[in-house]
Amino acid sequence: MDTVIKQLPKVIYNKQYNSLKDLFIDYRNTQRCLPAFNVNDNYDLKAVVESANEMDTNVMVMTYPPVAELNTPEVFRSLVDGFKKHAKNNVYLHLDHSTSVDLCKRAIDAGYDSVMIDGSQVSLQENINMTNQVVDYAKSAGVVVEAEIGKIMGRGVKVQCDDDFLASVAHVKQLYDETGVDIIAVGIGTAHGFTPTEPKIHFKRLQEIATAVTAPLVLHGGTGIPDADIQKSIKMGMSKINIGTIVHTTYMKYALKEILKAGDSAYPPFIMKAVLPKIKAVVKNRLQAVNYHKS
Ligand SMILES: [Zn+2]
Repeated sequence: MDTVIKQLPKVIYNKQYNSLKDLFIDYRNTQRCLPAFNVNDNYDLKAVVESANEMDTNVMVMTYPPVAELNTPEVFRSLVDGFKKHAKNNVYLHLDHSTSVDLCKRAIDAGYDSVMIDGSQVSLQENINMTNQVVDYAKSAGVVVEAEIGKIMGRGVKVQCDDDFLASVAHVKQLYDETGVDIIAVGIGTAHGFTPTEPKIHFKRLQEIATAVTAPLVLHGGTGIPDADIQKSIKMGMSKINIGTIVHTTYMKYALKEILKAGDSAYPPFIMKAVLPKIKAVVKNRLQAVNYHKS
């Protein structure tokens, strides 16, 4: 792990902002990107916060709907507040891929910093309607809202051809103009989870979208994207990157290994003490890819 820190280039991601909205606007203007990790409980949350501390960077943690439902948004808000007391920089809490307007409202009420309303599977008009409901609700609380256009493959999302998943420039522009949503996830060829081959990012479409709208853009499926493509995407307007699969698969793989090793005497804090460094190693590796900066 120490080798990762030694190789770290100059970090410029620890600046403080008045609000998350300000951070995203500045990141889009200065070609930077907020690393966002899916977490599932207090243990992988601890791994992400400690990694961000050691790399001196702002970070976002995200709860996927089953995680928010199981723990409740209130409990997760309290967990993150607890860890924030030991954080050097900002730790933002986000609700990831909610297809439910109601769950977004619950997360906003619980004090989340940011929520995603995912209307990518319904018609553009329905997507705009859902997004507007969440934008309206989030406004007075100052909560950031993320919408999605185009499809991120994997997790049961099957696509027939490029036109099926690629975000249409006209649709992105219409959604942005009619909702004023803060940040937009765009389908440009990445996939959730591990992919058998490297995902082929459609940089031409990304460029067209980034030219058409000033909104900070969001790159999903961060686990399988080569570092060079991550860095190229950031320069083209991706201001947030979602990284999930590598965190939970590392967690589960090493937890299973340690539990099997301990057998009947397996005790959660001892198991997790052995697993945490493994999670931190992959988180730091991804932080390094995102925070890479030539100057
Ligand atoms: Zn996603």
